[in-house]
Amino acid sequence: MSSANAGKRLFNFSPGPAVLPVSVLERIRDEMLCLPGAPASILEISHRSPQFIAIQERAQQRLTRLLNIPSDYEVLFLQGGARLQFSMIPMNLLRGQAGPAQFVLTGSWGKYAQAEALKEGQVEIVYNAKATNYDRLPSASDLKLSPNAAYVHITSNETIQGVQFQSDLDSPAPLVCDSSSDFMYRPMDISKYGLIYACAQKNAGPAGVTVVIIRKDLLERSNDSLPGYLNYKNQASEGSMWNTPPTFAIYTMGLVAEWLEETIGGLSKMHAINQQKASLVYSVIDKYPQFYQGHAQPESRSLMNVTFRFADEDTEKRFLKGAAAVGLDSLKGHRSVGGIRASIYNAMPMAGAQALADFMTDFATKNG
Ligand code: PMP
Repeated sequence: MSSANAGKRLFNFSPGPAVLPVSVLERIRDEMLCLPGAPASILEISHRSPQFIAIQERAQQRLTRLLNIPSDYEVLFLQGGARLQFSMIPMNLLRGQAGPAQFVLTGSWGKYAQAEALKEGQVEIVYNAKATNYDRLPSASDLKLSPNAAYVHITSNETIQGVQFQSDLDSPAPLVCDSSSDFMYRPMDISKYGLIYACAQKNAGPAGVTVVIIRKDLLERSNDSLPGYLNYKNQASEGSMWNTPPTFAIYTMGLVAEWLEETIGGLSKMHAINQQKASLVYSVIDKYPQFYQGHAQPESRSLMNVTFRFADEDTEKRFLKGAAAVGLDSLKGHRSVGGIRASIYNAMPMAGAQALADFMTDFATKNG
């Protein structure tokens, strides 16, 4: 790192846009004026240029290898964030279907997705953790999933509450998963899903691109009357280039995927690192359970977003101030739930999780 402000970087626990690997940022810096093999910057070349087409293809190939995506799936790079998917999914997969969309509600984002689906068709809530303030996941026996549903929607990681499915669910209807805040944190069995979507700006790159992995047979549900941009079948047949794609975001996501493959060594290794980082932080919460009041039930905890609060707001303010003083940034919880949220995505280095755990131990010893 040699740019003027590089030394001012703190450990960034932001929920998104979020931390990126330093080596990726350095590579972007080094390639910014002129992309290797191109006559200009990534910000300046045409999306139809051979250089950009190669970048897009390489990004798709890396995701396909990392997640072991079977050949009967399409990988789309879209815009509009995960929120547009809240609408596109029911527009394409619910409209005209006999069965309802079944929703498993484990937190705020699932609720938002469900509200958008309701505008399109019939929705059934098959699990709702509202009564316990979204602190837990369902057990397999809690879920009455129907083979006649148009699809079943889950949010694999609820970013605000910090609850996360740690394995792939079995569903008799196509399983649709919002993986925005845990995309590529572990290997997945893609064949268990009909559609997986993720905005990039948490675990996979910058804001601007949203990945949609869709089983090809589901493309047949997209009705020709849908607006072109919003039609998955159209996007697939146009290779995600029906309009100008977010070239810089796709380029950066490709570099993050390269980092995952070549520097980390794949998603099993990434998963082991993520488990280690999260356990550093959770072990402090477990050591001082009266002081650090964890939001998620232990068996539903997220490896990506660690959420907890204190008995009073004054302690929270002092915690945030003390954390900032030792270089730990963006730890404030979401405005809707308060408290503290430490987002420890793939690119958060082990040293960052360790620094947070050390600060938490010190703070509890002095204030607990
Ligand atoms: N789903 C989840 C799980 C999220 O965390 C977020 C963003 N925080 C969204 C959806 C919405 O993403 P976007 O802002 O890209 O629309």
